[in-house]
Amino acid sequence: MNSCIFCKIASGEIPSNKVYEDEKVLAFRDIKPVAPLHILVVPKKHYVSIMDIPAEDMDITAHICSVIQKIAIDEGIAADGFRVVINCGKNGGQEVDHLHYHVLAGRNLTWPPG
Ligand code: IMP
Repeated sequence: MNSCIFCKIASGEIPSNKVYEDEKVLAFRDIKPVAPLHILVVPKKHYVSIMDIPAEDMDITAHICSVIQKIAIDEGIAADGFRVVINCGKNGGQEVDHLHYHVLAGRNLTWPPG
């Protein structure tokens, strides 16, 4: 998707504050953090949301989980805990239509979310 900002970030066309990259996934710091640590983990392949992942590609979700484990260890947030959020669709608060996982940490995150 040529107009997708996260596709452009994933391809390097738009710069990002990168924390992790492999052939399938890029993780970078959110431009408007809502917690002291706010990282976005995105598949390089374009999916609008989790509803858009075909069954044959579902292993990307397990791969992203393993990337989040690595980020949690590398960023030193595993011990105190963190939150992983996927906003999906209008009522889910999704603003960028390219699947992304928010990793939030560094403060006591309240529940329920707003
Ligand atoms: P959503 O509401 O779940 O779609 O979250 C989109 C997130 O992308 C928001 O937290 C934005 O701050 C973040 N974001 C949008 N554009 C950029 C960018 O260019 N770099 C880093 N983060 C971005």
